[in-house]
Amino acid sequence: MRPSKLTYYADFVVYPAVIVGLAAVGVTHAGWAGRTEWLALTEWLAVAAAGFVIWTLLEYILHRAVLHRKTYFAPMHGEHHSAPLSFIGTPAWVSVSVLTAGFLLPVWLWVGFEIADGLTVGVMTGYWWYGLVHHIVHHHSSTPSPSYFNGLRAWHMRHHYSPKSGNFGVTTPLWDHVFGTAISSRSKATASS
Ligand SMILES: [Zn+2]
Ligand SMILES: [Zn+2]
Repeated sequence: MRPSKLTYYADFVVYPAVIVGLAAVGVTHAGWAGRTEWLALTEWLAVAAAGFVIWTLLEYILHRAVLHRKTYFAPMHGEHHSAPLSFIGTPAWVSVSVLTAGFLLPVWLWVGFEIADGLTVGVMTGYWWYGLVHHIVHHHSSTPSPSYFNGLRAWHMRHHYSPKSGNFGVTTPLWDHVFGTAISSRSKATASS
């Protein structure tokens, strides 16, 4: 999907608003269970952190098994690979709807609202962070000092330009190491944008 520049950037503000809304509802609900509030809040935060980790795995699986396979979404991702600086992405209304219908509601029916809400906040925060990291590594040039983003930029450029297939994780190399798809820094990247 090639949205307008405004739609592309809207992702970065729509998600924080949705996340804060869901978090407010979840934290209010967390007090219902009759536990002390701090305990309920700690549990909710732990669930949200688990949701963030779940996102990093989803990010890896979706990129490797959906965007790089012969699926409906593959041509869109192919466009990103041939024009990495183009503003290609999924409009926030589509991704929010998909995450609500495909994650929040089923998990809610399965394990109840509190956990579903916390997990969804974590997953959505992960998705937002993924969008931000991916934007920064492509659109902000490398600074001379090593930094978190410079490391991820070099990592993601190997995904784009190495002759090998790998480095499907964008926000973390963790799952590539787990599933054996990490491209080591000794493998040559052939371009840097
Ligand atoms: Zn890719
Ligand atoms: Zn990219």
